[in-house]
Amino acid sequence: MDSMTFVLFGSTGDLAKRKIYPALYNLYLDKKMPPAFSIVGVGRREWSDEEFQASIAQSIRTFSRRPHPDPSELETFLAAFRYCAVDVTDPEAFHPLLSVVTQRETELGLPENRMFYLSVAPEFFDVIAANIKACGLGETTGWKRLIIEKPFGHDLNSARQLNEKLSAAFSEEEIYRIDHYLGKPMVQNLEALEFANPVFQALWNNQYIANVQITAGETVGVEERAGYYDQAGALRDMVQNHLLQMLMMTAMHVPKRMTASDIRAEKRKVMEAVRPLKTEDVWKHVVRGQYGAGEVLGKKVVGYLEEPGVRPDSQTDTFVAARVWIDDPFWQGVPFYIRTGKRMKEKSTRIVIEFKNPLEKLYRQKREKPAPNLLIISVNPDEGIALQVNSKNPSNRGKIEPVTVDFSAGTEDVPEAYELLLFDALRGDSTYFAHWKEVELSWIWVEPILQAFRENLVPLHEYTAGSHGPKQARDLLAADGFSWWLDK
Ligand code: NAD
Repeated sequence: MDSMTFVLFGSTGDLAKRKIYPALYNLYLDKKMPPAFSIVGVGRREWSDEEFQASIAQSIRTFSRRPHPDPSELETFLAAFRYCAVDVTDPEAFHPLLSVVTQRETELGLPENRMFYLSVAPEFFDVIAANIKACGLGETTGWKRLIIEKPFGHDLNSARQLNEKLSAAFSEEEIYRIDHYLGKPMVQNLEALEFANPVFQALWNNQYIANVQITAGETVGVEERAGYYDQAGALRDMVQNHLLQMLMMTAMHVPKRMTASDIRAEKRKVMEAVRPLKTEDVWKHVVRGQYGAGEVLGKKVVGYLEEPGVRPDSQTDTFVAARVWIDDPFWQGVPFYIRTGKRMKEKSTRIVIEFKNPLEKLYRQKREKPAPNLLIISVNPDEGIALQVNSKNPSNRGKIEPVTVDFSAGTEDVPEAYELLLFDALRGDSTYFAHWKEVELSWIWVEPILQAFRENLVPLHEYTAGSHGPKQARDLLAADGFSWWLDK
């Protein structure tokens, strides 16, 4: 791994504190940082280097999976950090930043490899990229990379405009678009599951698979993010990026070579094969919901419209479920169901693959029918793989009953998504970052749904906080003879 400089825009922000510093520190402890590195934090407030370093130490103690740092180790780590107050909208303010970066490069004898991480509000993405270029920070004798947080655009047009602006300063190979679901170990495991297991590889198609269900449920409401969320909704916040990325990872075919470009090419093929929806047909395949008051994890909570910062007549979706078809010979006839919601009964991200039962018709009575085989990939908060199979239960007169075989590896001390992603970006491996084409194709697919929501062509169903979402989401599957698995 090359020695380098890491410039963090938004270094005083929430994401930096909760995720980025703990991730960098854990990489450092695991000897996964470059041999020599300088980290320069950029923020609006005036801070000394000491104040900055103290806030990083605090964030490590509060948020790291290893919250008790060794004092001398922590001190050496913190010595790599410098702070520079910059108003990112002011091109002149970038010159002092360039000075800090080059001065540290000289002091530490670093090659001019520069990583820029934009942990700031999306309206600053393009202006920062432009100012990096204008002030000369982007002119390096080594490599440069740009890591960018979500959201990538508000719709197809704004995403295209943003990409065009970023492309003026960074090439596609230099842009690392974070989708932190792609950093989750079990999502990264999807390709290995198929690639490394001939058993699954043989079954990964419409001959054996009946349907695929991808769920990302949250128990939280909008918290302090109402201002952003009320403009976005679940479709933009979760479906366009995280759910479609998980769908691509699940449905993609194993490429001949496991390289970043081949894997991303396979993902793109999936997205290209996803059947487009016509605006007037969206209601047949998509369920839209908004939570009302209820009880979540034993606590009474208000409905979405009563949340502070939400417009009282808001039509924003806090729940979306959809039936997705992939028009590719392998997946013809296999519905992929996706759903996500806030204030759901449980916090759970999982992928459930339901297998067909060719002998189903042999059973005359419904109650005799064995349960289908299920492959369950738990992504969050638990991580693991389980297979539901049928087996005779000797203590119940030999009755055939489903049993779940759990293959969960020990999940103690597993690196977090941000650790895995940052490590990849430091090494220049873009496999688990969203390529522009994936982002664009996802927006293209989502666009008619946005339009149908806007024009109220899809009813907005209220669901009780603490439930599994509106009843209509169950009806969506029932219409095809299926039901959501594992809803507790
Ligand atoms: P935040 O509001 O907590 O922090 C924003 C940062 O931007 C601060 O460091 C602030 O100093 C800096 N900033 C604002 N205006 C500036 C200016 N004019 N010049 C220089 N710096 C300026 O935001 P956050 O929650 O840390 O989110 C950062 C990004 O990450 C956003 O794009 C957000 O959408 C994304 N994101 C956040 C989370 C999360 O959990 N917080 C999750 C996913 C994505």
